[in-house]
Amino acid sequence: MSKHLSTSSLFYIVLSILLLPMTRSAYTQSTDKPILFVSIAPQKYFIEQIAKDTFNVQVMIPKGHNPAHYEPSIKQMQHLSKSTYYFRIGMPFESVWIDRLARQNPQLQVIDIPKGIHLLPLESHSKHNHSIHTTLDPHIWTDPLLVIAISKNILQHLTLLLPQHKAFFQQNFQSFKQRLLDLDQYLGTQLQPLKDTSFLVFHPSWGYFAKRYQLQQVAIELQGKSPTPRYLANIIQYATYHHIRVIFVQPQFNQSIAKNIARTIPAHIITIDPLAENYIDNMYTVADALLHALKK
Ligand SMILES: [Zn+2]
Repeated sequence: MSKHLSTSSLFYIVLSILLLPMTRSAYTQSTDKPILFVSIAPQKYFIEQIAKDTFNVQVMIPKGHNPAHYEPSIKQMQHLSKSTYYFRIGMPFESVWIDRLARQNPQLQVIDIPKGIHLLPLESHSKHNHSIHTTLDPHIWTDPLLVIAISKNILQHLTLLLPQHKAFFQQNFQSFKQRLLDLDQYLGTQLQPLKDTSFLVFHPSWGYFAKRYQLQQVAIELQGKSPTPRYLANIIQYATYHHIRVIFVQPQFNQSIAKNIARTIPAHIITIDPLAENYIDNMYTVADALLHALKK
């Protein structure tokens, strides 16, 4: 058949083949995909495991920014005006402006991701520092089994939004769930020899992780805030007594206090990131860092 093709029709066939990938990539970048907002990068990853590239997922906290203090940019405000859902996860900054965002964007539905998850108090080392109001720990995603609960919640809302993709979402959720179960099993087995071991962190991001795998998180920050000198003295005493040789920090926080303590104890500083986007890979990396640093 091809021998009957004229040069000009052949030209158009070649042209359409060449243009096809461009058209497709233009489509993937198009803004007519429904926009979803999340607070932190791991949430984007969870959504994309379930929905692949069905949605345009916008992360509120840019890479490297401290999630404690953040204001949406003008560009983010523009995206929010076209967004269907905001999946809140319980970060402190959300409570500062999420009601205002919802008022300004009547189409925006705020979805509570921790719904149905029992929140723990934010750990602090000293038992003498019980404040009248207990701060709840928002870092639920550091426990892979809680990520299954989070993802179920996401699945339910994505299905409400695009019911025609129900089977696709469901199937992807099942395979993501299996990867989380595999991760949990790996962490459980690998960290078993470290049972009840204390690890010192700057910001207490790993409370749910520690609880799941029977480790003790000790935080330099007090209830997620700068420590008092007296509390710091306690921490240094504690670290010396327990032969703690490593302080874990995360890249979004100022490290000067951790570095000063590290010099005093003395200890190494190791960075582990609870906000990395590729959640599964990152959790394997975190486990290996803990194992390497804490093994006796
Ligand atoms: Zn935090």
